[in-house]
Amino acid sequence: MQIEQLYQKYLEHPNVITDSRKIEEGCIFFALKGASFNGNEFAKEALEKGAAYSIIDEEKYKSSDKCILVENVLECLQKLAAHHRNQFDIPVVAVTGSNGKTTTKEILFQVLSKKYKTHATKGNFNNHIGVPLTLLDMPLDTEMALIEMGDNHVGEVIELCKYANPNYGFITNIGKDHIEGFGSFEANVRAKSEIFDFLIKANGTAFINSQDPILKNMARRFEKPIFYGDEYDFSNLTFLGASPFIKYKDRQETVVQTQLLGAYNFENIQTAFCLGKYFEVENNDIHDAISNYIPDNNRSQFLEKGSNAIVLDAYNANPSSVEAALENFAQFETEKTKLVILGDMFELGDISAEEHKRMIDIALEKDLDAIFCGERYTAHKTDKAQFFESRDRLLAYLKNNKIENSLVLVKGSRSMKLEEVLDYLG
Ligand code: ATP
Ligand code: MG
Repeated sequence: MQIEQLYQKYLEHPNVITDSRKIEEGCIFFALKGASFNGNEFAKEALEKGAAYSIIDEEKYKSSDKCILVENVLECLQKLAAHHRNQFDIPVVAVTGSNGKTTTKEILFQVLSKKYKTHATKGNFNNHIGVPLTLLDMPLDTEMALIEMGDNHVGEVIELCKYANPNYGFITNIGKDHIEGFGSFEANVRAKSEIFDFLIKANGTAFINSQDPILKNMARRFEKPIFYGDEYDFSNLTFLGASPFIKYKDRQETVVQTQLLGAYNFENIQTAFCLGKYFEVENNDIHDAISNYIPDNNRSQFLEKGSNAIVLDAYNANPSSVEAALENFAQFETEKTKLVILGDMFELGDISAEEHKRMIDIALEKDLDAIFCGERYTAHKTDKAQFFESRDRLLAYLKNNKIENSLVLVKGSRSMKLEEVLDYLG
């Protein structure tokens, strides 16, 4: 079936679903294949549960006229998404980078929503399936779109740009993330610059953080980049210290209390502020949006349990984000004992051993009490901190050794599930 024909069906049924357990009446089910499942097998069931159509790519599963056979379901989803996106003549802003994509995107979404009907990636749907689904979820009256793009390997952003066709874009920062996928830091820089490659060809606009030397250097390829930090000035905002929640003031001396933790989030706030200014959102509306934004689960939450106060950041961990979290945590002023609980970082390839060792050194240099969890940290065991090879061992220890009157930073990669330590803190 031609994309145009399928698009007509989509316009009548604009609810696209890829998980057969979540079928809704009148949706279109795309029968994707994964490593351990074949969506085609659920095409009939999806129709029985109320789907208007099932898009399949294996003829033997064609149980009725409502099964639409295509060459490849994933490619069809991506093409349909691109077709939908290209019906809009609006700013589509691509957000990529090592750290802070989701947070920046969500703050910026709040900011832009003050003035425009804005559509943005939900959560972390930032890959070759998430981006098309985000696009297909875009209502016809959308005035502005914000698309998060994951960039775990070379070629990924270029691929995502093919469907999202952004006309604006920015890189939050470039750190030491996903080195395993890239091979080296230089390859990481190259991968990140793919967003700029695309924008140059498409005659789009890049926003460049002029405080970041690597990004500034990349900007030389553009005729007219927008330097936020200069034209849309960072110095409009002054950081007022790192008590758990960020506070800042603007040039008019308006003090804004945010619900965001961690000095590194100030960078994300500044980016959202500068882009808000570029798109002509009023100052007060920008501050209002920033102060009301509450981050989602597992991303920098602040909790109090018993006599302990806890900064929980068990969502992701790579050397740049752990370093930023330690720097920030060390600045907190408190009467309580400061303790960090760090879990292994993954996907670091060759630099894994040296970076785990470096994080231990940073924590100890800052005189923080520290507990390290996971095999990668334990490989560099010293008697200046506590080490546990696995989360279970750490949990068993915490069960019998109560932590009290402490300010605790908990940070580890998602799969370390360090949020489970909460049950034993206070
Ligand atoms: P992912 O690659 O998983 O999509 P992301 O780039 O979307 O991650 P966020 O989800 O916004 O990033 O933030 C994840 C973690 O990264 C935060 O909890 C925090 O520890 C760290 N982080 C966020 N912003 C920054 C920043 N500007 N600089 C350094 N670290 C940051
Ligand atoms: Mg993200």
